[in-house]
Amino acid sequence: MDHAHQFDLFVIGGGSGGVRAARMAAQRGARVALAEAAALGGTCVNVGCIPKKLYSYAAHYAHDFRDAAGFGWKADAHFDWDRLRANRAREIGRLNQVYERLLEDAGVRILRGWASLVDGHTVMLETTHGAERFSARHILVATGGTPVVPDIEGAQLGVSSDSMFDLDPFPQRLVVVGGGYIACEFASIFRGLGARVHLLYRGEQILRGFDEEVRHFIAAEMVKHGIDLRLHTDVRSLARTGEGIEVRLADGHSLAADTVLLATGRVPNVSGLGLEAAGVRQGKAGAIEVDAQLRTSAPSIFAVGDVTNRVQLTPVALAEAMAVVDHLFGEGRRSMDYDNIPTAVFTHPNIGTVGLTEQQARERVAEVTIYRTDFKALKHTLSGSIERCLMKLVVDAATDRVLGLHMVGPDAGEIVQGFAVAMQAGATKAVFDRTIGIHPTIAEEFVTMREPTR
Ligand code: FAD
Ligand code: NDP
Repeated sequence: MDHAHQFDLFVIGGGSGGVRAARMAAQRGARVALAEAAALGGTCVNVGCIPKKLYSYAAHYAHDFRDAAGFGWKADAHFDWDRLRANRAREIGRLNQVYERLLEDAGVRILRGWASLVDGHTVMLETTHGAERFSARHILVATGGTPVVPDIEGAQLGVSSDSMFDLDPFPQRLVVVGGGYIACEFASIFRGLGARVHLLYRGEQILRGFDEEVRHFIAAEMVKHGIDLRLHTDVRSLARTGEGIEVRLADGHSLAADTVLLATGRVPNVSGLGLEAAGVRQGKAGAIEVDAQLRTSAPSIFAVGDVTNRVQLTPVALAEAMAVVDHLFGEGRRSMDYDNIPTAVFTHPNIGTVGLTEQQARERVAEVTIYRTDFKALKHTLSGSIERCLMKLVVDAATDRVLGLHMVGPDAGEIVQGFAVAMQAGATKAVFDRTIGIHPTIAEEFVTMREPTR
């Protein structure tokens, strides 16, 4: 314990990474403060993962009611947007309180206000009552990220994902700009909830960075679900008209919208944080630079999560927070392992993926064997849906190690989570082959693909 400072750890930001670090450090006996300027839980709880997944569930009912007819059900379903919004707001409010209680029970001092760095051991907190300084042995910056507004004339007429949860009224015509996680997920969700959706992407194919086959497959599935996907499409300007927003495209065409979602990426939340004063080096887009132990160029200051602009996922922010806490108050020096991070895109159907894409594997090992299958799930023999699933294994031919596992299909996130354990354990294709399937499931296809595709 260091009595020269008021706290052993001062955490700036009460989102995924900050809350985890504060709570775990306090449980290990450290004196911890956490400053949060908005609602506890950060992006994930308030305007990210959680409300997004709740709305994704809501949207899935549209398919379920349709599919039910083939199984003998007659349903006359109507969607009530106001009710969904109200129920979501209530649940998020409950979660905010859960986070507060978790921190308080662990003994963390919660400070409501906007924090900035004065130097390597001093934080300034600004509240409605004025400013106050606190000293700490270590400081953790976990301030997350914020949506980028693209340089388009009339961009102020568009909204970011932050506003999508409380739109009023429900947008009957939604235009989504971008082709990443957020663009694709919100296109699927609002299509499911009944909107007419245009998804405009500037490049060759949506979801850059994912396996090529997965990208093409999900794009086709999203189109089947009724999304009007326009590739190679640049937006020139947005303009207010008598009946909504006119989205003017570079090719001279235009689209009419009630809401335009600009989902063109996120940048680290660093403005006014005092990083320079504290000697914290920043990289591209202002991202805080950290070493393998998440330490910044100022030795007493650490940073985790989206503010480092590397892997913008909640479980990664949590794991980074744990690495910092173990390092400072626990087992000692520890680094993060960024290999085999599983991820899901909650499009309809979902994408689930872990490990290397086929393209990455071909660059890294001499010979790659691909096992791939696509099929109509048993459920859809009666539902009448034309949705298909894709499952794919990328195998190192020399070592038999499974390097990548990819899926497009229902509950792909749930399924791939389990396989990620096998990948982490270094499973070979022979281990997959020895594994008995669970029949009849979609997931069993991962252990029954015998013939290489190429
Ligand atoms: P955040 O959770 O953003 O927390 C930062 C906190 O710091 C905020 O509460 C902010 O108010 C506070 N803050 C900032 N500056 C200050 C300051 N100066 N003083 C005091 N407080 C400050 N990830 C997944 O893994 N799965 C998903 O399904 C998923 N869905 C997403 C959907 C959307 C629409 C979005 C936008 C993101 C999604 N993510 C998802 C990403 C995930 O939300 C982030 O990776 C995660 O929240 C990052 O955590 P963090 O701790 O770095 O920052
Ligand atoms: P992404 O970086 O994933 O995607 C941004 C998209 O916007 C890309 O398609 C990009 O195109 C496009 N784009 C960028 N600039 C412009 C521009 N000026 N004009 C037109 N298009 C542009 O960011 P998101 O905002 O979708 O999501 C941020 C992060 O949040 C994700 O990377 C992910 O880590 C996390 N997240 C995770 C989720 C999950 O786990 N399920 C869900 C939602 C978010 P190009 O590819 O050509 O650069």
